[in-house]
Amino acid sequence: MQTPRPALILANRPLIRRPGSLYIEVTKNCNEKCTMCPRTYHWPNRRDNLSFEHFTHIVTQTPGLQRAVLHGLGEPLLNPDLFEMVRYLKARGVYVLFNSNALALNERRRRELVECGLDEYRISFDASRPETYKLIRGIAGLEKVKRNILALTGLLKEARHGPKVSLWFTSIRHNIRQLPEIAQFAALAGINEVYVQRLVYFGQGLAVAEQSLYHKLFEEEKTALAEAYKVCRQNGINLAASGGEQITMEGSLKSLENLDEEYPWQECTRPWRLSYIQANGDVSPCCFAPFTGKEGGPILGNVFEQPLEEIWQGDDYQKFRRAFLTGQPPQCCEGCGAKWSV
Ligand code: SF4
Ligand code: SF4
Repeated sequence: MQTPRPALILANRPLIRRPGSLYIEVTKNCNEKCTMCPRTYHWPNRRDNLSFEHFTHIVTQTPGLQRAVLHGLGEPLLNPDLFEMVRYLKARGVYVLFNSNALALNERRRRELVECGLDEYRISFDASRPETYKLIRGIAGLEKVKRNILALTGLLKEARHGPKVSLWFTSIRHNIRQLPEIAQFAALAGINEVYVQRLVYFGQGLAVAEQSLYHKLFEEEKTALAEAYKVCRQNGINLAASGGEQITMEGSLKSLENLDEEYPWQECTRPWRLSYIQANGDVSPCCFAPFTGKEGGPILGNVFEQPLEEIWQGDDYQKFRRAFLTGQPPQCCEGCGAKWSV
């Protein structure tokens, strides 16, 4: 008997009053120009930060919030109020994490990062060679990033407290052979978690189908994965696909065991669990939507114009959820599960 699709299970339960998890984009500013990121192509000059006042306006609307992810299309470290925001959330018992490229992780920020109470610091790190880093991230930043990471892990070791640190590697044809070197760097830095993510592609720069490795690993690339596993095993590092799944050696970066061929996006349950709030207050169903949706994906309301609870339960969100359950999902969800992770 086929297991019911996760989306259908949640759709048949009463809708929770408000999301228990929020992705809050604290800035649209960035110090890199990644060739796999829609910001680089569509909004390269956006610099707006979420103010602390607007941030608290969002958080106070979500009592019972369990998890906050403070990233979107921008580098969180560039918001001067970031650490204050983390402290504010921690005082409310929320689990807090964010992704970062670590380029702006100077000494002051490193100290703040260790002391602010953050739960997880996830570093996007997908090249071990300078030319590949520049090709992927648009700037020559590899050496600085490596220095910053090593200084951070040194500080964490001294302090004996601070966030869990992990490396996040977006795998593409151009960089997969460098994964063993990334694993070696993780060992050097004393980082014991490395995650491999699938490319979310939208047809520009390196975010194109030809760069995707899903279901099409060549022999040499499988060898690189096996080698990375070996390095990780030897150094007590957990190497996993994002979401915690094991990476298989059978020709794919596995996403889900029993992916539904007909409605793959319905493995996703985000529309019933979380919201993504952009720095300007716009609410979207998830942080993939700006990558996969036309013109940045659907906007279901704005938290500076309407209470979040009203948006969450409102007509546009419900219409989005209803379409999600049909054979013709909202455009941003069409490729999810089949072309990239759900
Ligand atoms: S992927 Fe992140 S670091 Fe790279 S340009 Fe986009 S927002 Fe900046
Ligand atoms: S775009 Fe993908 S991740 Fe986002 S709600 Fe749709 S199916 Fe889920």
